[in-house]
Formats: sequence, structure tokens, C-alpha cells
Amino acid sequence: TETGLQSEKLPAEPVAAPPARDLFAKFDPLLAERTALMSSGVRDPFGIVMEEVTSPTTAVIRGQETILLGTYNYMGMTFDPDVIAAGTRALERFGSGTNGSRMLNGTFRDHVEAEDALKEFYGASGAIVFSTGYQANLGTISTMAGRGEYVILDADSHASIYDGCKMGDAEIVRFRHNSVEDLDKRLGRLPKEPGKLVVLEGVYSMLGDIAPLREMVQVAKKHGCMVLVDEAHSMGFFGEHGRGVYEAQGLVLGEDVDLVIGTFSKSVGTVGGFCISNHPKFEGLRFSCRPYIFTASLPPSVVATAATSVRKLMTAHDKRARLWDNARRLHAGLKGLGFALGTETCDSAIVAVILQDQAQAVVMWQALLEAGLYVNVARPPATPSGTFLLRCSICAEHTSEQIEQVITMFAAAGRLAGATK
Ligand code: PMP
Repeated sequence: TETGLQSEKLPAEPVAAPPARDLFAKFDPLLAERTALMSSGVRDPFGIVMEEVTSPTTAVIRGQETILLGTYNYMGMTFDPDVIAAGTRALERFGSGTNGSRMLNGTFRDHVEAEDALKEFYGASGAIVFSTGYQANLGTISTMAGRGEYVILDADSHASIYDGCKMGDAEIVRFRHNSVEDLDKRLGRLPKEPGKLVVLEGVYSMLGDIAPLREMVQVAKKHGCMVLVDEAHSMGFFGEHGRGVYEAQGLVLGEDVDLVIGTFSKSVGTVGGFCISNHPKFEGLRFSCRPYIFTASLPPSVVATAATSVRKLMTAHDKRARLWDNARRLHAGLKGLGFALGTETCDSAIVAVILQDQAQAVVMWQALLEAGLYVNVARPPATPSGTFLLRCSICAEHTSEQIEQVITMFAAAGRLAGATK
């Protein structure tokens, strides 16, 4: 029998296909910029390898013992003996991985244990653990605000917040960084009826500045919005229980703040993300959220270390005090040397040194590395207003001697790069 396919005769001459457009061509400017930078004799600031990590505050880089001042290991939990023991036990008893999603075979005892520890830490009725903090924002924002609803976010929000907005179907409205007035103005222009989620961060990680959450939440509630606060850079050392900037400013989960996003990759000292809420329908999120459902869950050793670390952070008062002491001393020391800093006062455990341009930032970064100090280079588009930064994140386990050494190293490197006199 004749089929439709057979009846379509092939053309006598095959039509010449156009040459494949090289999709990698879009990287040309970026690669050229990197080649130019590397050929100027500097090391690649984005190619650092920790050959050995010797403590929460030191590692071997290119054979040299180096002080770590750019790791977000705020509470120094990565080498805590109880945390390591919990991870080792879980690895031995439950194996190296879960092979699947939380929704199917990927929920093990310690995922539930980590969620219980978080509920206790935040005094909350609900906690959902994600595979990273990035996915916690991606999933929560895209799922909570749907078609016809609104997400209102600070212009300097973290990439994961922006990507959560892109992934969802809600309308997106941005307001000027930390401007309560602009937030109020923009909310005032929106229709009253639709659901709205205002997304804020406790600490903004590039400059280390904190949000005026009290005032912002007041405005958000006046306009009938729900509020999500990302407390990635404050967990463990802001507020009486270490819950974050919202707690330090006297705000209450379930009354003022509806959802808290956090991560295990900073103060907790491992990897993973989470969302916390007191809302009675919070579990609905778990069953609707694609970045939670369609990915493998965290390995048992990771959630076991997270659960132990979160519980220890509840009583880590000495560490908190040491972290703040270190942060204040470093901020004062660098300010005293004449550096332009991200904040006038020491507001968080991030101290950002603002530099003129990429060349100055990289020269100074390299001088510090050669002297035995690792800090982060941050550049646009990650940074606000096109700034180039050397970012320091302080650890509770840095010793007073290390902080003094760091200040001395900055003094020399700043003179060399022409950033200070
Ligand atoms: N939110 C903020 C504010 C962050 O700074 C980060 C990471 N730097 C994240 C979320 C993502 O966290 P994670 O590393 O767990 O993906």
C-alpha cells in the first residue's frame, strides 16, 4: 500500500543546509577580556583551588598556607567535631547518596531531622529543605506568586531571587535598593486585589549592608502584601536566637514575616537551602514546587551535618560574640587605613573594600594572595552600581592575631595598588 510517507518524493538535489551558527560565539568578548587580564601577568581570581583545608580559617593554595577571608564560613562550623562525626556516621549507615527526589525515594531520616532542627531553631511550624539556597529561592518565589499576582523585589537582590522571578508567571516590580519610600510608592500604584509577595534580604551580600526591615515590612503590610526575607548572610549571629536581621529588628515570623529563606552553605557550614514558615498551608508548597520535586535530595551525610550544626548554632553564644568582635576590629582597621568601605559602620560580617576598577582590584587581590590572604573579588554584574570590590567575610574562628595580620597585609597591598596612601 502507498503510505503518505512514500508518496512524498525526495528532491533530486538535496537543499544545502546553512552552516551551523556557532552558539559559542557569544562568549568571545568575555573570553577576550579574560585572556587580556591573564596576559597582564595576574593570576585568575576565579580559578583558585584549595589544595588542602587545614582549619575553618586556613587552607593551602598553590603550596602556601593562606588565611581564608572570603568563604562565608561565618560561624566556623566546617570542622566542628560533632558536625563531622554526624556526617561520618550518616555516610556509613545510609550510604553516599539518595539517588532520587524528596518526593519519591529521596527522603531519609536525616532530611526529616534537619527540618525538625530548623523548626526548633526558628520556633516555626514548617520547614522545607531544598538542595541549595539558590533552589530554595527559585522554587519558593516561582511557586508562591503565580499568574496575575506580583513579586516586588529590591533592585540589588541576589541572582537566585531574580531567577525565581524569571521562572514564575507573576508580574515583577523592582524598587530602589533599601528605599522604604520607593517601595511604598510602587506598591501604591498596583491594583489592590491580586496577591503580592515582597522579597527582601536581611544582609545584602555585596556591600554587607542591612535592610530597614521593620519599616519595609510595615509598608508591605499596609498594602496587603506577604513578605519573604532571605536571611542567608545573617543566620546564627543576628537576633537573640540567631534567626536573622528580622529577629534583631524585633519582627515576628507568622505576624510580620511570612517566609524565611536560608542556606546551609554559610553559617551552617555544609550545603543545602531551606524555607521556613508558620502558615498552616505551608506544606502545599512542597507538593507544588518544581525545584524541590524534580531534583535529587541532599546526601544523608550533608543533612546529618546540617541538622547537628543547626542545633549547635542555637547555643553558640561565644562564637557569635567572637564573630562580631572580629568583624568590628577588621572594619575599624580597614577604615583606619583609608579604604572606601561598603558600609560606614560595621553592620554585618561582610566588609567590602571598594576599588577603582578591575585592574586595581585584581592587582590588590593578587598581592594579598601572595602575602597569604584569600579574599573575594566581586565585579559587575554581581555588584551594585558597577563597582569592583574585594570582599571580606569574617569567621568566628579567626584569631585576634589573624585579624591583625590581615590588616597589615591590606595596608601593604593597598599602597602597592594605589588604593591608599
Ligand atoms: N541568597 C543569598 C542572599 C545568597 O547570597 C546566596 C549565596 N551566595 C544564596 C541565596 C544561595 O545560597 P546557596 O549557596 O545555598 O545556593
